[in-house]
Order: sequence, then structure tokens, then C-alpha cells
Amino acid sequence: MCLIDTHTHIYDNQFSLDRNETVQRALDAGVKMMLLPNVDASTIAPMLELHEQCPDCTRVMMGLQPEEVKEDYKEVLSTMEKELECGIYVGVGEVGLDFYWDVTYEKPQLDAFETQLDWAKQLHLPLSIHCRNAFDKMVKILEKKQDGNLRGIMHCFTGTEEEAKVYLELGFHLGLGGVTTYKNCGVKDYLPNLPLDRIVLETDAPYLSPVPCRGKRNEPAFLVYTAHRIAEIFQMPLEDLATATTTNVNALFRF
Ligand SMILES: [Zn+2]
Repeated sequence: MCLIDTHTHIYDNQFSLDRNETVQRALDAGVKMMLLPNVDASTIAPMLELHEQCPDCTRVMMGLQPEEVKEDYKEVLSTMEKELECGIYVGVGEVGLDFYWDVTYEKPQLDAFETQLDWAKQLHLPLSIHCRNAFDKMVKILEKKQDGNLRGIMHCFTGTEEEAKVYLELGFHLGLGGVTTYKNCGVKDYLPNLPLDRIVLETDAPYLSPVPCRGKRNEPAFLVYTAHRIAEIFQMPLEDLATATTTNVNALFRF
């Protein structure tokens, strides 16, 4: 079996004591590839270090996560833009909008997001997009920017069927993670109505562990639980779901 974790932060210091073992457990579980989205200026070095240690099973993305957009965001973005020139990055992420905790940096978030959407277009790279409490503004920006050249993943998608369809119509894939395994998550009710060729899997480790590991530190090996649940929802064998979602990632990222 071959699964791809399209969004994992295992360079985070929550893995400093067992990072190598974490990677090994992922490989043993069938998670053969892990895509690493950046968060802020401080995460670039540890992310690249992990990629150097595990060049075969990791790929790196570059971007400024919306919750980390602060006063200095323009400087941070210029560092990241230079970093993207080296050509090792397979995507722009994680980027997006997050107005869950506060809206102090709403304007800078919108500006940073638009800038990073432009990078993705210029470099022909897919995006890993984070969106929380910002659906209307997100759609407005994506509609404005979509000229046929934007593609990517709505990471940790947990919205309604209508929201899912809006993103699909805009040309995006849906990244499903541990939340999909939670009892109160509505995605399972309409998931079989969605095109399987637009679904990809992720952990968002160390966050949002799937059932039966909910509450624990998440890690890529746990992707199997999410995959198992989604295979159940689509009423198909796990192997087939793994093949389908891996094919989707390979096509989207042009691996
Ligand atoms: Zn993330």
C-alpha cells in the first residue's frame, strides 16, 4: 500500500526526541511520502534539515501560515520569495486566511495571501491552503485570482457540501484529515457525492489525531486510520482508496 500525507509538520519540535522513528513508523505503515508545508521564518531551517535527512520520502513547500502573519510580514515574505528561487519546493504552503482567534491582522493576512497566490501562479506550483472562519473572503480572493493557473489543496477541509462544491468548482482538491473520523464531522454524510479524483489525505501532524488516537500527538503513520475511515465511507477497499488518492497527489504535484 502507498499513501501520501499531503500536510505534516514533523519538523516541529514535538518530534525532536523521536523524529527518525516517526518517519520509520510512517514508512512501515505504508505512508511512503510526506509533504512538509512551512509555517513561518523560524521553521524553514528545521524543515530543510529533515528534508536533507530524508530526501526520498519528504518534499518541502514554502509559505507563511496565516496565523503567523504579523507586523513584519513583508520582510518575512521577501525572505520566503528568495528561498523559493532555489527550486526544491514542490508547492506554496501553508498559506491562507484564519480569523478564528482574532482579526487584528486581517488586512495583512489578505495581502500576504494574495502575494503568495501570485507566487504559485508565477512558479506554476500547487498550493496548500489553510482556511478557518474565513470562507467568504477566501472564495472572493480565489475567484478573483483564478485564471486557470491556480491549483492546490484546501487543507483540513471540514466544511459543508455546498462549500466543498465551491472549492471543487474553483479547481481545488480537498485535503481530508483526522477530523473526518470524528463523530460530529458532517463530511462523511455527503462525501460519497464528491468526485474521488479530487480527494487527498493528510494528517496535519502533530495536530488533529484521527480516532482512535484522538487527543494524542498526531503523526504520519496515523494517516492509515483516516484512510480506513474514508474507504469505509466510499465503500471501497483501503488499497483502492490508497491508490486513488496517491494518483491524485502525483497528478496535482506533477511528481
Ligand atoms: Zn498545517
